[in-house]
Amino acid sequence: MFNWILPFSYLLASILFILSIRGLASPKTAREGNLLGMAGMLIAIVTTLYSPLVSDIALTIGVIIVGGMIGTYSALHVKMTSLPQMIAAFNGLGGLSAVLISLAEIIAGSPAYLEASLGLIIGAVAFSGSMIAFAKLQGLISAKALVFPFQQFLNLVLTVAAVTLCIMFIRSGNHELFFWLAGIAILLGFLLILPIGGADMPVVISVLNSYSGWAAVGIGFSLNNVLLIIVGAIVGASGAILSYIMVKAMNRSLLSVMLGGFGAETHQASAAGTAGKIAKTGNPQDAAFIMENANKVIIVPGYGMAVAQAQHVLREMADDLRKLYDVKVMFAIHPVAGRMPGHMNVLLAEANVPYEDVYELEDINREFATADVAYVIGANDVTNPLAKTDPESPIYGMPVLDVGKAKTVFFVKRSLASGYSGVENPLFFADNTIMLYGDAKVVTEEIVGALEEK
Ligand code: NDP
Repeated sequence: MFNWILPFSYLLASILFILSIRGLASPKTAREGNLLGMAGMLIAIVTTLYSPLVSDIALTIGVIIVGGMIGTYSALHVKMTSLPQMIAAFNGLGGLSAVLISLAEIIAGSPAYLEASLGLIIGAVAFSGSMIAFAKLQGLISAKALVFPFQQFLNLVLTVAAVTLCIMFIRSGNHELFFWLAGIAILLGFLLILPIGGADMPVVISVLNSYSGWAAVGIGFSLNNVLLIIVGAIVGASGAILSYIMVKAMNRSLLSVMLGGFGAETHQASAAGTAGKIAKTGNPQDAAFIMENANKVIIVPGYGMAVAQAQHVLREMADDLRKLYDVKVMFAIHPVAGRMPGHMNVLLAEANVPYEDVYELEDINREFATADVAYVIGANDVTNPLAKTDPESPIYGMPVLDVGKAKTVFFVKRSLASGYSGVENPLFFADNTIMLYGDAKVVTEEIVGALEEK
């Protein structure tokens, strides 16, 4: 009887995973997408527990409980701003599982040398690369690109060594070669990610996510497990597509991201031509006055809004401007604003900002020229015009939000400090810019107070 239950349940789980990805494509359906994914995973786990693949059910359930507790604890306690490093860490664990399973398979005498080798190499690179991405995002090591002489050459030598060892192992089946292969692939993962700077980290995480999916495909073939092959392929393909969308949004090539070096140097004031210039400063009351007399205000949220958790008070400000002063308010989201793809969309959705008020970069950019105010709250790199004008700048080529075209630009941030890429923003010193120094939430609360005072 079990003969048909296993493939049927695996097919059902696979369909649920595909529907889940489809649901996650839009903030409106993301919750259902998540639930479908969870249902698929539950079916997959229960089916696998009942399958002949599992020899020690008690041990397996014990491990699932411990892992589940760690996962639940981390998910409940992680701050929204730390989600990228959590994703990097979980990716790394996926890669490590692929490494351990392929080692166990080979030691147990599996003849699937090619599949196990592919799972091992990709899994090892995903594991060590994700550990570096985690350490950079968590601030354990510098987020700057770490470049040293002959780096690319060393990577090339290690890649050739890995391919040679792989071929030798497949021909001879010598276990010692397989262990060497594991060591070299882990080292390669470290070295590949070290030279990549912080501003490229979202792409890197997405690429590593894709790697862990393809590692699962390799392991799926060596274990003869169809579900692992299907799910691995979904993760691998969606990670690859997301990476492509991100590099396109930054106007970069995947090769230039992976070859690294981006963000290695901090651009000083002189590079932006702003040395000696003075930025104009305003206060929340002035900002409230200018905004209540405006026809159109465009709000541009960035990483600082997430840090300050200012999304709720920001929605209040937008509501007040609309209801009390009949101002048209729009929200502009840059694809890499914040620290993870969709970061701003999630926060604005949490604060119940209507989806129809939220615009993507290509739809909003033409609106700035007719806007009275651009209210830039905790965003910096995503507005930096040097991305268009300075070929020497590390962010050159990244499309940016044209906030400078609005009549007045407010920058809500604590100082003139640069953003994640370390590049100074000359817009702070523009004639139509007014800096509102302070914590994003506090400043916006004061503006709301002033708007509601009258
Ligand atoms: P930036 O990192 O460019 O700028 C954020 C600004 O927020 C800082 O300049 C900081 O200035 C300000 N800030 C920090 N805390 C607060 C606070 N409590 N209140 C007010 N302001 C605050 O962010 P952007 O969103 O503009 O750009 C994202 C950058 O991150 C890009 O370079 C992108 O490539 C990179 N990145 C994006 C990821 C993604 O997937 N979205 C992932 C990883 C990196 P000050 O200190 O003066 O307050």
